[in-house]
Amino acid sequence: MENNNLLDVLIIGSGPAGLSAAIYAKRASLRVLVAEKEYMGTGQIAESDQVDNYPGMPEINGYDLGEAFRSHAEKLGVEFHDGTADGFTADADGWNVHFTDDSQISARTVIYCAGAAHRKLGVEGEKEFTGKGVSYCAVCDGAFYRGKSAAVIGGGDTALGDAMYLSDLCDRVYLIHRRDEFRGSSSSVERLRQKDNVEIITGAVPAKIAGDQTVTALELKDGRSIPVHGAFVAVGMQPQTECLQGVVDLDDGGYIIAGETGVTSAPGFFAAGDVRTKALRQVVTAVSDGANAATAAAEYLKNLTL
Ligand code: NAP
Repeated sequence: MENNNLLDVLIIGSGPAGLSAAIYAKRASLRVLVAEKEYMGTGQIAESDQVDNYPGMPEINGYDLGEAFRSHAEKLGVEFHDGTADGFTADADGWNVHFTDDSQISARTVIYCAGAAHRKLGVEGEKEFTGKGVSYCAVCDGAFYRGKSAAVIGGGDTALGDAMYLSDLCDRVYLIHRRDEFRGSSSSVERLRQKDNVEIITGAVPAKIAGDQTVTALELKDGRSIPVHGAFVAVGMQPQTECLQGVVDLDDGGYIIAGETGVTSAPGFFAAGDVRTKALRQVVTAVSDGANAATAAAEYLKNLTL
């Protein structure tokens, strides 16, 4: 027998993707609830001192932009539940979601928007100067270092791309990699070698990010100190999908395999935002994902009742 009290959509995560999904789901007259970890701001975006690439909102503080998304959802009557989801099982009615406090919420569909966290470098000064010279996103924050010097730490494609991006803005860019061989593509390394304002330093392990009010230098374990205004940490991402093993198909990096509509390998389970396989992880692509996934969920629910 059909359970008419069942939620139509349970959204996991209250970052830009989750809030956008909630807005679209609510406007589609779906019964929706957003589950979020203890409220501490709207995800990664809240870490950004300034967001300068969200159309129409130049130089907005990341926290303020997140709060604007949230208050829009609240204005439409979206409700929130404090809780960290840690288990997902499917039955004939949809999905049963288990939380770490042992509570459970059931819904016909799930839109999973728990995001991906930037892997931290784990050195002294990193936490202290986050947002004051330490950044995890060159595309978001690079413009603040125009005409200045910056270090990019990492040897993968993200670090190589970040160094290239910053080389068009900064006076000087240091690419700091702990090994002599790069994990990222050799053609990108070659292109960086051609740039006059890029210095590649390999076999270099960061020890400390030093500064006063803002970053002034990156100190290496071998004793060298590199004077920089910014330190871009690009040492990989960690999608928050530990609880999804065996639930939906993940790629080798742990991202949920899903295209633009958020449709995953599991019926009624959608993915949106940084947690899914995609080329560009930005606020603007996260909110697009949320809209697409909510629309796909509405379509899925409509087809169930036909
Ligand atoms: P990644 O490939 O995992 O590279 C992370 C880099 O950070 C590695 O070079 C690693 O060093 C270094 N690292 C990790 N922990 C460190 C630490 N504690 N201290 C210093 N260095 C540390 O991550 P990614 O660059 O973010 O790329 C993720 C995936 O996205 C990759 O598959 C990549 O190819 C893909 N991607 C593709 C493109 C593109 O095609 N345009 C752009 C961006 C990303 P080791 O090498 O020594 O392990």
